[in-house]
Amino acid sequence: MTTQLLFPAEPTPLAPVAGEARAYPVHRIFCVGRNYADHAKEMGFEVDREAPWYFTKPANALVISGATIAYPPETNNFHYEMELVIAIGAPAFRVSLADAPKAIFGYACGLDMTRRDLQIAAREKSRPWDLGKAFEQSAVMAAITPAAQTPALGPQRIRLAVNDAVKQDARLSDLVWSAPEIVSHLSRFYHLKPGDLIFTGTPAGVGPVRPGDVLRGEIDGLAPVVVTIGAPD
Ligand code: MN
Repeated sequence: MTTQLLFPAEPTPLAPVAGEARAYPVHRIFCVGRNYADHAKEMGFEVDREAPWYFTKPANALVISGATIAYPPETNNFHYEMELVIAIGAPAFRVSLADAPKAIFGYACGLDMTRRDLQIAAREKSRPWDLGKAFEQSAVMAAITPAAQTPALGPQRIRLAVNDAVKQDARLSDLVWSAPEIVSHLSRFYHLKPGDLIFTGTPAGVGPVRPGDVLRGEIDGLAPVVVTIGAPD
């Protein structure tokens, strides 16, 4: 007998895949903290090579490129963070660095939208970052390009422009922890599976946005992520 629901279940968030009619159903969203030395510095920290670390966003925070997102409530300092997103495509638990690439389905351009004032207030009190990071419409993403169609990561530029003014401009080779290193490390703590996304951190140049701003993030070889900031919610 089918279990009846008290109210309709939320639909599974879906991400488009470049050159593919079928969508990628999203399960979880992991995010890496301070994964570019220059961004760590602008936030007042030295980067360390001890181990990567993470926070998460709910899967229903996902917004697909092309949308307008509301300026979110309870913030006066809403920031963009342009990031490379890893899309997991095979189960991965305790995978070695050498085996980690086999678990990667593809890559995408993403924006880790952040209520910076709330994040910093939480950080200063040693509280969780949820109010600053894990809120509605905070994970913006473009179509996933399969890894098989992506050249080896490294020299690609990662850039973000606000209203055509370039704010972030770095290379994927500037990542402190590479995509395989992140997948291998994260798989020690979670049974990663298809549908898991990993936002890999942002380069220097983060900053505030205002209603009406248009953000465009690019990584060479991937579909660009574009989002418009709407009126306050
Ligand atoms: Mn980030």
